[in-house]
Amino acid sequence: MKVTIIGCSGSFPGPDSPASCYLVEAEGFRMLLDFGSGSLGALQRHIGLYDVDAICLTHLHADHCLDLCGYHVARTYGPAAPYPRVPVYAPADAPRRLAAAYGMPEEPCLETAFDFAGLAPGTFEVGPFTVTAATVNHPVEAYGFRVEHAGRSVAYSGDTGESNDLVKLAADADILLCEASLVDKPDLPVGLHLSGRQAAEHAAKAGTGRLVLTHLVPWNDPAVVMDDACRGGYDGPVELAHSGAVYDLT
Ligand SMILES: [Zn+2]
Ligand SMILES: [Zn+2]
Repeated sequence: MKVTIIGCSGSFPGPDSPASCYLVEAEGFRMLLDFGSGSLGALQRHIGLYDVDAICLTHLHADHCLDLCGYHVARTYGPAAPYPRVPVYAPADAPRRLAAAYGMPEEPCLETAFDFAGLAPGTFEVGPFTVTAATVNHPVEAYGFRVEHAGRSVAYSGDTGESNDLVKLAADADILLCEASLVDKPDLPVGLHLSGRQAAEHAAKAGTGRLVLTHLVPWNDPAVVMDDACRGGYDGPVELAHSGAVYDLT
């Protein structure tokens, strides 16, 4: 399994990264975790425009899903259209919400390009991957994902405040891609996002092999987020996500 960070900027794109998008590949199958603002552009540095086989969306905030609108254009009107429909695992409201964002009537809901399936907590198969979705702690319906293949695993927090379900989801994962949107301080908001310290605490409890701090908001100093993470009691390797980083889990 190979994991490529396409976008890791929190809440909106930054100068050096699109918003959230991670490419997970195995056995020639290519799956995206989130498809946030700007990520369709950077994705094409790594795979062909039409090479996406499945998409999983953690939640329907714009920085995690909005490039599905542009990708609908590519797959519906591209030179060799129609292209095969791409399965999209997302909160149940995704067809209506994304059609509204696109400016399309509710029917046909972007369904020339995508085959939507509603998410619920649990485990399902996508191509060669075993994907587990768990509810996390954010103001809207939101999931974290664990992707497993050939005995290796990567967990992705999506957007969340402190969450025991995230700890369970990430248990013993090789990598935890964990959001660290907030600069640490007393009285952090509950049920919204994590600081670097909190991300590291989750990685420590879960016993993950590596912690990658992501969803880095452009108004924060990433060095401060990293310093915060060093106070989370996690003794494994910690790094800041960057667009283009590749993790080869073979
Ligand atoms: Zn976000
Ligand atoms: Zn969000």
